[in-house]
Amino acid sequence: MSDVVILGAGVAGHTAALHLSRLLGREHRITVVSPNSHWNWIPSNIWVGVGKMSKQDVVFPLAPIYARRHIRFIQAKAVAIRPYGDAESDRPAVDIVHTSPPEDGREERIRYDFLVNATGPNLRFGATEGLGPQHGTTVSVCTADHAVEAAGRLRGVIERCRAGEHQTLVVGMGHGTCTCEGAAFEYVFNVDNELREAGVRDLARVVYLTNESRLGDFGVGGMVFNEGGYQTTSELWTESLFRERGVEPILGAHVERVEPGTVHFETLDGTHHALDFDFAMLLPPFGGVPLAAFDRDGTEITQQLFAPSGFMKVDADYSGKPYEQWSASDWPQTYQAQGFDNIWAVGIAFAPPHQISRPLTSANGTVITPSPPRTGMPSGVMGKTVALTIADRIRRGPRAEAHRASMADMGAACVASAGANLRTGSAAAMTMMPIVPDYTRFPTGRSLDDTRGELGLAGHWVKLLLHYMFIYKAKARPGWFLIPE
Ligand SMILES: Cc1cc2nc3c(=O)[nH]c(=O)nc-3n(C[C@H](O)[C@H](O)[C@H](O)COP(=O)(O)OP(=O)(O)OC[C@H]3O[C@@H](n4cnc5c(N)ncnc54)[C@H](O)[C@@H]3O)c2cc1C
Repeated sequence: MSDVVILGAGVAGHTAALHLSRLLGREHRITVVSPNSHWNWIPSNIWVGVGKMSKQDVVFPLAPIYARRHIRFIQAKAVAIRPYGDAESDRPAVDIVHTSPPEDGREERIRYDFLVNATGPNLRFGATEGLGPQHGTTVSVCTADHAVEAAGRLRGVIERCRAGEHQTLVVGMGHGTCTCEGAAFEYVFNVDNELREAGVRDLARVVYLTNESRLGDFGVGGMVFNEGGYQTTSELWTESLFRERGVEPILGAHVERVEPGTVHFETLDGTHHALDFDFAMLLPPFGGVPLAAFDRDGTEITQQLFAPSGFMKVDADYSGKPYEQWSASDWPQTYQAQGFDNIWAVGIAFAPPHQISRPLTSANGTVITPSPPRTGMPSGVMGKTVALTIADRIRRGPRAEAHRASMADMGAACVASAGANLRTGSAAAMTMMPIVPDYTRFPTGRSLDDTRGELGLAGHWVKLLLHYMFIYKAKARPGWFLIPE
């Protein structure tokens, strides 16, 4: 019997676990280690963050689903990997610390034959002084609880507008190296929509504060669309949305610090600014979750497995060549950790080889560039791909060929809603193929047939459909595996 251990029960880890349970049945032991008892459909946190959905609509307990799928669930966080084993045994192991109330803090070492690191992002609020819910200055929508708090604060702003007060709302990125611009973009238009529905939009100044140097960059260097035979860009398309809704963009910004009611930031031209706000939702930069690695004799080998960002090094080109020289083939295909044929990192947990958006620094040398996004769809595809590889290696032996899924071959859809009403909702729907541009195959880096942007009610329906479809899939309801990642 083989032991497969999956760290993390988010999009990538949960997808891997469900597929492995389908592929391996009960012959082998699949264990998921994750600190939270509940699964969260993170994209819908946006709707929780404006009060359109409750926390209960976007989370559900993991234990009953894993029990039904014969997956062992350990509510704990991984803290260290011992890929060569330890003094007691040469079987690889992971050190975990339990987080469930009765066992909180208990340390344990569990053995594995195959390990999947799907631990997602470490929300690095600490990278920016004064940023984040723990300081009470800015809110976030990264977790369902954060989103509940954001909705409460937004209600307060709307009440004050109703009382005739002018309010400034700032939504965007809390650091120059943030990723996930799509989420902030979606949230700002949902906030705009809430203010309109409340009839107070004229009393609110809504600012989108971003590290993108151009609107529509989204950390993927922007997109070129084919519209009615003409080429247009995500920049033009996005700009028109900002104009139409009266949302004020501030581009190329690195948030330096936040004080109660004031955000201080530097822009690409090297100037420093202070913006007063009544409400601010600023996303933190992401890093890898703190995981150490040790040799059999206890020597620390963290640098061998992880990049300085804390993300795990996989089969990518990390030689650090200049931006102009990178190519689509630098991106990982198998997600296998360097030097190990039984460890993988999927979803946000793997270290990207380089920026997709052109790296820029301010006149003072401050890096102000979106980091590459690893959104839900590719994270799910990576989880499934690695599950297929592990199942093959268990059934056919360690030499079985790894399955491949490069972000330079994979498409992604991003549907950014702007309101959650079935009749009046709207959304900016974008599809791109591939995610990582490949200039050797496409003159614009991406297929013009499969890279599109559309605005309208239909996109909103798609977003709502995705909400129900993915929660259905994540609950492993009948036929779940027929729903694509
Ligand atoms: C507000 C918001 C909106 C978004 N909207 C969209 C969208 O519309 N479309 C889209 O495609 N993407 C969207 N994304 C991005 C999407 O949520 C991520 O791409 C996706 O969740 C990444 O999957 P993951 O499995 O890598 O990480 P996660 O889903 O974050 O999962 C990580 C898992 O690891 C666990 N974990 C953490 N530390 C440890 C540890 N030490 N040991 C074990 N487990 C650990 C976590 O508890 C969690 O279960 C959005 C993101 C945000 C923040």
